[in-house]
Amino acid sequence: MAIDGTKLDANASKIRSVRYDRAKQLREKLAAAAEVRALPVVSEQASSDGTVKWLFDVGDGNAIESVFIPEDDRGTLCISSQAGCALACRFCATGHQGFARNLSTGEIVAQLWFAEFALRRRLGVAERVVSNVVMMGMGEPLANFDNVVSALQIMLDDHGYGLSRRRVTVSTSGMVPQMDRLKEACPVALAVSLHASNDRIRDEIVPLNKKYPLKELMAACQRYLVKAPRDFITFEYVMLDGVNDRPEHARELIALVRDVPCKFNLIPFNPFPNSGYDRSSNNAIRAFREILQEAGFVVTVRKTRGDDIDAACGQLAGQVQDKTRRQEKWIRIAEEKG
Ligand code: SAH
Ligand code: SF4
Repeated sequence: MAIDGTKLDANASKIRSVRYDRAKQLREKLAAAAEVRALPVVSEQASSDGTVKWLFDVGDGNAIESVFIPEDDRGTLCISSQAGCALACRFCATGHQGFARNLSTGEIVAQLWFAEFALRRRLGVAERVVSNVVMMGMGEPLANFDNVVSALQIMLDDHGYGLSRRRVTVSTSGMVPQMDRLKEACPVALAVSLHASNDRIRDEIVPLNKKYPLKELMAACQRYLVKAPRDFITFEYVMLDGVNDRPEHARELIALVRDVPCKFNLIPFNPFPNSGYDRSSNNAIRAFREILQEAGFVVTVRKTRGDDIDAACGQLAGQVQDKTRRQEKWIRIAEEKG
């Protein structure tokens, strides 16, 4: 059978033109329904240890931060879920700022989108740089539940970022009902900011504890593990001198978590003026760690990263102590950038 090349060419060009029209219609529809733009970057700072921190403008004088932390076997991006935080943990600079607003799903995913783009350009590579995401920046992720879950789904989707559930971690100060909801909606790895071995201390430093005390929190952790992608909860524990860092606290902690398979991440307190707290001594941290290890727990002590750019994850506000000073700094940077 002879094939008429002219007819084939004509058909191909007809198909191309139909496709073009459809693509054009889709572009017009998208332009009417959605806004496609990156978050405005106020600043990008790179540390000598490879840590990179971005400050993004989210409008109305609010800025949020994301931090990339490279390690030998992974690249972790720490992202924010809210501008400010309403939960007012006493040792947290974000908590001292107060709450401005929830970030949208787009604003949460945009942090990953931008970091991946900027890092590939910075490192001159074409392949994926961010392998892990931790929601340990500004804000309480589970207080912005719907937007955070939609953002997580995009990060996990094969048509999105295709990250594994094990490599995406939500950190919560212990919002018990939302932990149950997350377990059903999108069970990613979970870190819980424990910080105390009894309700008396936790009531004081994590006010949310008065609503969801430790017994309820431990039960919620057990329930979460039924669907969690990892078979342990990571308990974060900020080391505050003379407050929660004594050997008796470590022993009390062991009893508290006895029914919850877990690992501990000890975080040396990142001080800021007027916090009223000091960082535990290295000796106190070492002794605390040893007691937990002798009881069979895996314990890591968070390394201070990006010190020269003030980028310790979980304490992003750093030297910018309160909202006023933060905004002053932000406005100054914005003015310098013209
Ligand atoms: N709101 C969530 C996630 C953001 S905070 C939460 O509380 O878990 C991320 C981690 O940084 C939490 O464990 C938090 O308690 C810790 N953190 C806050 N302020 C800190 C500080 N000044 N020094 C050390 N860790 C701090
Ligand atoms: Fe909010 Fe977490 Fe800071 Fe507590 S530690 S105030 S929950 S950001």
